[in-house]
Amino acid sequence: MSRVVVIGAGVGGLAAAARLAALGHAVTVCEAGDDVGGKLGLVTADVPGLGQFRFDTGPSLVTLPGVFRELFADTGGWPDGLELTPLEPTARYRFADGSGFDATRDLDDMCARLDALRPGNGDDWRSFTTRAARVWEASREPFLESALHGPSTLASLALRHPSDIAAIAPGRSLRALGRRHLRDPRLRMFLDRYATYTGSDPRRAPAALAAVPYAEQAFGGWYVPGGLHRLGLAVRDRAVERGALLRHGAKVVRIETEGGRASGVQLEDGEHLPADVVVANTDAATVYGSLVEAPAAARRLARTTPSLSGFVLLLGVEGRTPGLAHHNVLFPADYDAEFDAVFGDPARPVDDPTLYVSAPDDAAVRPDGCEAWFVLVNAPRHAPGSRRGAVDWDAPGLAPAYADRLLDLLAERGLAVRDRVRWSQVLTPADLERRTGAAGGAIYGTSSNGATAAFLRPANRSPVPGLFLVGGSSHPGGGLPLVTLSAQIVAGLVGPA
Ligand SMILES: Cc1cc2nc3c(=O)[nH]c(=O)nc-3n(C[C@H](O)[C@H](O)[C@H](O)COP(=O)(O)OP(=O)(O)OC[C@H]3O[C@@H](n4cnc5c(N)ncnc54)[C@H](O)[C@@H]3O)c2cc1C
Repeated sequence: MSRVVVIGAGVGGLAAAARLAALGHAVTVCEAGDDVGGKLGLVTADVPGLGQFRFDTGPSLVTLPGVFRELFADTGGWPDGLELTPLEPTARYRFADGSGFDATRDLDDMCARLDALRPGNGDDWRSFTTRAARVWEASREPFLESALHGPSTLASLALRHPSDIAAIAPGRSLRALGRRHLRDPRLRMFLDRYATYTGSDPRRAPAALAAVPYAEQAFGGWYVPGGLHRLGLAVRDRAVERGALLRHGAKVVRIETEGGRASGVQLEDGEHLPADVVVANTDAATVYGSLVEAPAAARRLARTTPSLSGFVLLLGVEGRTPGLAHHNVLFPADYDAEFDAVFGDPARPVDDPTLYVSAPDDAAVRPDGCEAWFVLVNAPRHAPGSRRGAVDWDAPGLAPAYADRLLDLLAERGLAVRDRVRWSQVLTPADLERRTGAAGGAIYGTSSNGATAAFLRPANRSPVPGLFLVGGSSHPGGGLPLVTLSAQIVAGLVGPA
């Protein structure tokens, strides 16, 4: 049995703790905050006369449900009381010209809906999906379910399965793939949006990201009744049931080494916790920036483009809104302007951003006759002083003024909600950094911008023996299913007790 310390109780850290504890290791999770889930946060608001609103502050959509089924099956079975329900439609999309469609998991139905938008769209989407299925099949095992060994992963794939390399099309962007298969600019916009699922710019993100819309089309979008935060609690409970010890208020300030090998951690209050294995769920930028000496890994990370962040409005809304689906995406006229602003030099808040509104019709998260709105727009990450890809979100007056602008934009796009807002809270990229330790509030660590981005993403096995990285800033990337897969990879690398 090894002594394992996991730094951080995000979903990746908790899933790693559950798997490693199930393998027989003595696991301690050190979490800086007093809750679990990290970016999968929860805010509750009791509004006099109305009741309680509950808001997920991060993820609102669960994809690849099979990943969670596997996690729980491998560690003791599906948890009592946890439900995953499919969403229908997956999301409602509206474009600047007022047209739109509801995305659905049934491909025939989806194609018929897209044909109604413009004849021929159905065939285009079908042809794209066929191609995306090839990307998914080619990339799933070597890139999502296994540890990556740099560009050599691609080289060995090229030798073994040359047609898989043709499907992945390294060097081609997601935008270029969309242009090849989709004629309607609105459908291209729909596809481009999936680059943001990895915090990236579709013009620079690889065509391999076609696997993301494929996974959503093939496996659907899912919700956790009661709110997605419950998923984090269920993973925490599983880790604890399997014997992991969870410590809150335990901020790790140093990963200790002995003879070049990870030997434990030091907490902020000076306490030392010895360990045979350290699993860092904290941001890779923090790991290599301040927790441990690994100059080559730090230099590699410095060559990446950090992921975008998000600006969030939580709105407790009185009354019900006709035509509002669970997930609603309201596109602007000029999508490129959004990426120019977010990744610009200097960056700036997007003037006319895509608005994403999630308002689960779930009595457990809103008082009767009310709606709990989570409004998200893409935003540059936070850094003091303006620079490439970053904005000082703590600048006086910026956040409230931007929140106000978003309420105006919602009204312009048909969701005039201002007069019905009974409670609100703004979460900026700077708040995300403070709440979760994510550098600059970058949601996914590094972006996928550029052909080599996947290979520059920090590996799960660090250069320091005994130190492993799990979670959204390491391989295979961000998003709930991928961080859960990263835990599976790390448990495989550590092995049984
Ligand atoms: C606004 C937003 C919307 C999103 N939407 C979706 C979505 O719809 N679907 C989806 O799948 N994903 C979505 N994501 C992404 C998803 O939330 C993340 O990829 C995932 O939750 C990250 O998990 P993680 O394991 O990397 O840990 P994190 O969530 O990054 O948690 C890390 C934990 O480590 C702790 N910590 C940090 N430093 C230390 C330290 N020094 N010592 C001790 N503890 C420390 C933190 O307090 C935190 O609890 C969204 C994220 C955001 C922010």
